[in-house]
Amino acid sequence: MQWSQQFQKRFVDDLVIDRNGEPLECCQAKEVLYSVRPASTVCGRVYPIMIDNDDRRHLERCVRLAADAFEAGNEPFGSLLVSEDGTVLLEAANEVGGGDATQHPEFAIARWAAERLKPEERVAATVYTSGEHCPMCSAAHAWVGLGRIVYASSSAQLMQWQSELGAKPSPVRSLSIGDVAIGVRVDGPVAELAERVRELHVRAAERRSRT
Ligand SMILES: [Zn+2]
Repeated sequence: MQWSQQFQKRFVDDLVIDRNGEPLECCQAKEVLYSVRPASTVCGRVYPIMIDNDDRRHLERCVRLAADAFEAGNEPFGSLLVSEDGTVLLEAANEVGGGDATQHPEFAIARWAAERLKPEERVAATVYTSGEHCPMCSAAHAWVGLGRIVYASSSAQLMQWQSELGAKPSPVRSLSIGDVAIGVRVDGPVAELAERVRELHVRAAERRSRT
């Protein structure tokens, strides 16, 4: 982790670079950034992480949905499906409190999109989410053919928080979206929103420790 932490400081304007300051190609970036930052590339090219005001507004809503999910007895995750013209098509929140650990919002969005959207509408839509997709949801997203993903906090961050909080190990390996879904543009994380997500996970850990 020592080297990874140093590496993280070497991002310049969010462009993925190596230890010599050279831009990394996608596959290299995925490998070396695994524990630090998700792949921010579509295979074959490197691009800066781009989050505009609309993205931020949608992510704020995702964090609110995550907080609501937590208050309702679930894990703190929330997501939105937004069409190409900016219309919010679906809001979804984590619903694992009922005992089904597959009730993730990103999975619900993929199934909803498969039932209701044409393939060209899916690929033009964006999924916003408070936390980066897990491998199950990344796979569902890719199978259904949805488009860009924007998240507030990364799987690597979640893994680090869970470790710091002494959480029980996950039964599913932590992988970045780029490790599972091919050719999906991914933007995130956003530092100040990730901090709010972290606070929700701290509260979730406290609640688990009481039960
Ligand atoms: Zn998931």
